[in-house]
Amino acid sequence: MPEEAHKKDIASFSAEDLSCLERATSLTYLETVNDFLVFGFPDRNGFRQRGAGIPFDVAVELLQAVNREAERMTDYQGWVDPEKGFVEFELRQQAMNPFRRGAADQFEFEIYPCQHSHASNPPFEYDEDRDRYSPVMRVTSSEGSTCLEISPNTALCYPLLPPTIDGEYRVRSQSTLKIYLEGATEKGELLRKARELANSFLFELSARHRMVYSLRPRVESPAYRRHGSTISNRVRFPRTPVPDNIATLFSIPGDTALRGNHTLFYLSYYQILEHYLPAVHRRETVRKVRRILRAIDFDEEKDSSVLQILNSVERSHGASEGEQLKALIGECVPEDKLREFFARDHDGHFEKNGPISGVQAINLKSGEALPSQVAKRIYMLRNRIVHAKDDVRYAESKVLLPLSYEALRLSPDIELLRLLAIEVVVDNR
Ligand SMILES: [Zn+2]
Repeated sequence: MPEEAHKKDIASFSAEDLSCLERATSLTYLETVNDFLVFGFPDRNGFRQRGAGIPFDVAVELLQAVNREAERMTDYQGWVDPEKGFVEFELRQQAMNPFRRGAADQFEFEIYPCQHSHASNPPFEYDEDRDRYSPVMRVTSSEGSTCLEISPNTALCYPLLPPTIDGEYRVRSQSTLKIYLEGATEKGELLRKARELANSFLFELSARHRMVYSLRPRVESPAYRRHGSTISNRVRFPRTPVPDNIATLFSIPGDTALRGNHTLFYLSYYQILEHYLPAVHRRETVRKVRRILRAIDFDEEKDSSVLQILNSVERSHGASEGEQLKALIGECVPEDKLREFFARDHDGHFEKNGPISGVQAINLKSGEALPSQVAKRIYMLRNRIVHAKDDVRYAESKVLLPLSYEALRLSPDIELLRLLAIEVVVDNR
């Protein structure tokens, strides 16, 4: 980075610059620590988080990029810079990478002369300050117009991380995928081309070389991360017996290795409810029959009385999974817990125009009982996740794929199911 950039101090950032950086990062400026501007993450349910530090020189480059109308992408973590015909994607690396220092000699890259200015060349970039080698892979189209590169990030994708454990802000880096086109490109066109090139490049890296990278979907807005219930501050000796399989299912959404696998989390909690359906259903049937038997006008000599029992059992036998769910929720989940949950601000998630289509909206003012609305919603959503598109029985609901736009916005529904699962486990102990 240019030497004069290092000499920047806080005085070189105007209030307007700072708010511009706030918009660019979706974070809030807090303070300056040494050569870093520190930005705070949104408040997460009272958990105090330490901010992310951005070095002055990176902040200057970011501002320049924003001024030439570079912007963050909406679907993926990364930036699009139309004036330069440049796109940078953040990456997830999913497995051991065979492209390591020791093995780097075995790889060669299809590179042709090009007009871009690349900060580093394959196979490695050496970072003197940290004595670290970072892999660099680059390929060029044969006429030299387009380059694809995986290398340490530019200022645009500077990793927004909290300080180290000793409270110090240090310069960090991450590998990103960069797409360089021939020059200024209209944004829509640039995004489309970048996606196509990224898809092909990452597919071939995996298929031909077992280097498994994927684009990092842009995480949902902070509003969606709110917890569905309050957190108790008193840790007690446990009293809730939990069967093995339920314990396993309940632990899946908390597994950080599975982070982001929202459809799996949804189904894990759903399976907990399913586990209790038969028992609760039986219990409810027995209760109904007992009520008939105890009625003062019940007369075992009369056919009509006996038929009442028969009807009740038959109805119960033919109950669909949706009806059983409704009974389970009605019986095991206190209605005030549901009301409390929906009274929280979910950013319109459960309303009619919420982000998840093809499911029941929740309306506290509609005449329909809350357990019934909730049962319909969670069952419809479950069907959208598990049923293939060509199943005629569910022709009206389109399949909801993992990592799709909707899947990444499932958090409030997962929180709802978590609440139901907890109440059902507690009620059935
Ligand atoms: Zn190039």
